[in-house]
Formats: sequence, C-alpha cells, structure tokens
Amino acid sequence: MKEIIIVGGGASGLMAAIVAARRGRSVTILEHKDRVGRKILATGNGRCNYTNLYMDISGFRSDDIDFVKRVLKKFSYGEAIEFFIDLGIYPKQINGYVYPYSEQASSVRDVLELEALHLGVEILTNVKVNEITKDSSHFVIKTSEKEFTSKKLILACGGKAYESLGSDGSGFDLARKLGHRIIKPLPGLVQLRSSDKFLKQVNGVRTDVRVDVLVNNDLVASETGQLQFTNYGVSGIPILQISRFVSKALDKSMDVKLAIDLLPNEDWQDCMDLIESRIEFCPYKTLEELFIGLFNNKLVLCLLKRANLSKDMECNKLNKSNLIKLINIIKYFEVNINNTNPFDQAQVTVGGIDTEQVNSKTMESKIVKDLYFTGEILDVDGTCGGYNLQWAWSSGYLAGSSI
Ligand SMILES: Cc1cc2nc3c(=O)[nH]c(=O)nc-3n(C[C@H](O)[C@H](O)[C@H](O)COP(=O)(O)OP(=O)(O)OC[C@H]3O[C@@H](n4cnc5c(N)ncnc54)[C@H](O)[C@@H]3O)c2cc1C
Repeated sequence: MKEIIIVGGGASGLMAAIVAARRGRSVTILEHKDRVGRKILATGNGRCNYTNLYMDISGFRSDDIDFVKRVLKKFSYGEAIEFFIDLGIYPKQINGYVYPYSEQASSVRDVLELEALHLGVEILTNVKVNEITKDSSHFVIKTSEKEFTSKKLILACGGKAYESLGSDGSGFDLARKLGHRIIKPLPGLVQLRSSDKFLKQVNGVRTDVRVDVLVNNDLVASETGQLQFTNYGVSGIPILQISRFVSKALDKSMDVKLAIDLLPNEDWQDCMDLIESRIEFCPYKTLEELFIGLFNNKLVLCLLKRANLSKDMECNKLNKSNLIKLINIIKYFEVNINNTNPFDQAQVTVGGIDTEQVNSKTMESKIVKDLYFTGEILDVDGTCGGYNLQWAWSSGYLAGSSI
C-alpha cells in the first residue's frame, strides 16, 4: 500500500508532492500524460508567468472568495518566488508579472520534476486514473495500468481547459463519485464568439479599448487593453479577462453584449473636440481620410457604415447630428455575443469542486477523510497574470504540508 498518491502531475500536484516529501512522506504521482507538467510548458506563451507582484484578491473569482484568501495567506506570491529561487529559478518581472529569467516555461517544469525525483517521489506516467473508491482505511485507485491502494490521496487533476495538455475533466467525475458537489465547469480566459456580420470586415484589426460586459443590459465587468477582432468574434487580453462573466451569463441563457469604447482615453466631449479639430485642420478630406492615423482603415469603413455615412463625403459637410451619431458609435460600439470558444481554447476552468466541502486550513475534503484537493479542480479561477499558477502553488503547498 502506498502512503500518499497524488492523481495528476501538474503544477499543483508537483508542488504538493515536493512539500509532502520534504516532510518525510512517501509520495507517488499518477500522471496520465507521458511526462509531468505538460501544461506548465504552454503557460505565459512558453515563458511561464508563474506569479505576480501585485497579487490582489480581486484577481480571483470563486463562489467563496474568503476560502481563496485563507489559502493564499498560507503560501503567498513572495513565498512562491523564494521557493523557486531555491530550486534555481531566478525571477524576472515585467509590470509585476513574474517569469523565470531564462524566459523558458520548461525551466519551471524541469526544476519541479528534478526536485521531486531528488526527494524520492515516485512518478508514474502514462497512468490514467479511472475510478477511486474508499473503504474504512484506504483508497482503491483503478487505473489504465493496474490497481493501487493508498492511505491518503490528493486529487490534483486540473479542470477541463486545454485537454490536449492533460486535464480532461475526469477529475470532476472522480470527485463527484466520491460525494462532492461540482459547480458547473465552463470555459474561462477564452475568446468570445459573435454572429454579427461586420466582423468579416474588421477581421485582424487590433485596437486599444475599454470593453464593458452588459448582461441583460446591466454592466457586470469592464476591462481595458488591446482587443483583436477576428472573423468569429473578439479576442485579446481584455476579452480573456472578462470571459468568465460571459460564460456564466450565457450558461443561464442571458443576453450578452459588449459595449466597446474605441477611444477610452478621451471622454465623450474630448472625443467630439478631437474629431471637430481634425475636420477644422483638414476640411479637404473625405470622411474615410479624416480617420487616417487614428483608427485602422477597416474599422473606419465599419464605423461609417454603422453611422450610415458615405466614406466619400467631404468631412466639412458633416452636420451636427451625424457627428454626434458617429461619436456615439466610437464611444459605444456594440457587439452581440452568442458563445465562447470551447474548452480546448480556454486557459482555465470556471467552476469545479464546491469549496464549501473543503477545509481551507488543510485542503482536506469535509466529506471524505484523508482526501485532499489542489489547483484548478476547485471552484477558483484567476485573471491573466500568474494568478492561476499562484493558486496551484498555494493550494498545493497547503495540501502537501498538512497531509
Ligand atoms: C495555454 C495556457 C496558458 C496559461 N498560462 C498561464 C500563465 O502564464 N500563468 C498562470 O498563472 N496560469 C496560466 N495558465 C493556467 C495554469 O496553467 C493552470 O491553472 C494550472 O496549470 C493548473 O494547475 P493544476 O495542477 O490544477 O492542473 P494541471 O496543471 O492542468 O495538471 C493536472 C494534471 O493532471 C493530469 N490528470 C488529469 N486527469 C487525470 C487522471 N484521471 N489520471 C491521471 N492524471 C490525470 C493531467 O494530465 C495534468 O498533468 C495557462 C493555461 C493554459 C492552458
């Protein structure tokens, strides 16, 4: 019989394994991919943004945010940086986002695996866990290879995002069958889809915006940053950041619209003054020419079409009511959203094991003794910027140190 089995050798499972092994525990990781930490390799565009110097609780979402706070307190971003320095990861920060100085995500994966092996953690790859049962004294773990038994168990299977990197949602089924409530998993940090016709016209255009999410016409979230129009919808960091609110609303069949401010640094009146002064300086330009140097030309044609104005009209012929119409479109450019991209393009899972059933001092289940959870399998998700990996490190540390 094994002492501790960890199902899933991702970020949180490796952290839990190292911390438990450093305390003298005997640990076995069962990982269904051919190597541990595959998802880490894809993080931060291959550079691994492993934490953030501005680690604020507002960057996390969960049905129980106090649960998240309590866990993060036990292993902060500063402790994560120290932990990785000890393993050899010299940190580099860009606007608070922390990366390995090597700028290689493989560095983070490699040092975790090296440390785990050095501590005597047994790592079994190409082993998929299909079923877990518990009798009074131990767990029985049925896998694609053989049956294992263990005294204690950590479920660190991740969520459903990016299945090709290992997490296929099977952890939710394992937890559910052990009696846990699963808050419906939905794609997070994901692009949004729209069937609005104008998108074909502006495919590929990138522009700095503020984007508001309106659910049944109520404002639920806002972000600023560079948005990209695509032929299927919208993408870019601000879109990923707001996507979890859209996922939740669409799942409840609510109406979702984005209101995009294409000149977010100017208020409405400044925007009006700006356009009027451009007309005054270059009255000889057509409406299409008036916007050269301000917006991408594809976007200009789209704005003029929405305002029902000819691109060839001389700009000094624009009357006040049409000018107001144009400014309103620039400041409030609507996009109807009807879906998100699927899980295989999402960076994170929204939803998961209800944290009400988990002890925030230990990560142990309140339903099944000696069973622990770490990482994305829980109902916790973070924004872009190292928050999701910090959650993996903090929850993995806490489970590994208390098991
Ligand atoms: C493209 C991409 C980029 C990202 N970039 C960042 C970033 O820069 N910064 C950041 O903070 N976060 C980032 N994330 C999110 C972050 O990677 C995850 O939140 C984090 O890896 C979750 O850790 P985890 O241990 O919970 O799960 P995972 O890392 O997903 O590990 C789960 C492991 O369990 C294994 N497993 C699952 N089911 C079974 C089973 N039944 N039997 C055996 N093994 C199983 C899987 O193969 C996997 O190895 C990114 C995610 C993606 C997809």
